[in-house]
Amino acid sequence: MLTEDEKKRYTRQMMMEGWGEATQEKLKAMKVFIAGAGGLGSPASIYLTVAGIGNIVLCDFDAPELSNLNRQILHDHTRIGINKAISGKMTLEKLNPNIRVTAVTDKIVEDNVDQLVADADIIMDCMDNFPTRYILNDCAIRKHIPMVYGSIWGIEGRLSFIHVPETPCLKCIFEEAPPKEVFPVLGATPGVIGSLQALEAVKYLTGIGRPLKNKLLVWEGETTQFRTFPLHKNPSCPSCGGR
Ligand SMILES: [Zn+2]
Repeated sequence: MLTEDEKKRYTRQMMMEGWGEATQEKLKAMKVFIAGAGGLGSPASIYLTVAGIGNIVLCDFDAPELSNLNRQILHDHTRIGINKAISGKMTLEKLNPNIRVTAVTDKIVEDNVDQLVADADIIMDCMDNFPTRYILNDCAIRKHIPMVYGSIWGIEGRLSFIHVPETPCLKCIFEEAPPKEVFPVLGATPGVIGSLQALEAVKYLTGIGRPLKNKLLVWEGETTQFRTFPLHKNPSCPSCGGR
């Protein structure tokens, strides 16, 4: 049941066709696992929080540095040195006291991923490295839950909604991890892609709209264009077996 405060808080989104109180209550019962409280995890977690997702699990083992603050808007200069998941929880709880935010400060590895993701309804892949993305991908396949992939570079970003066996998995799409590097990024770029990740998750959790399945969206900031490319399963994929 929604409280009177919640009904007021979510008035404008409940006005959307097919939404109403029932859908808002559904969101309140949902749990989202957000992997990464950095550039993508910041806008993604903020929009999921203000949308009223009842349980947000924010996972990051790192601490904010001054050079993160051009894009990681969950944090500010007073949080430098504090764990990002804890700093993020502080920000999110101020934005919406009606939801529960859990900070997880562990590094995601093969041995703990199933336990960390637990009974989440969806995974937000807001990572900055492929080895961890692949670990999350394998976990999503095992648990039969979707994962929203987002990535950025400079003023370009990518997005896809992954849900095996309806779609290819991340390993089908990106067979090889690109080399790890310190890459350029403007804060508005994860602002665009992280917001779209939140939107994909909300669409899936409410059943309103159609998630971006079997397509890779590429946003080109330089020309302000969105392009979509079809995606295909790899029949010999080592992660999903092309199922
Ligand atoms: Zn695959």
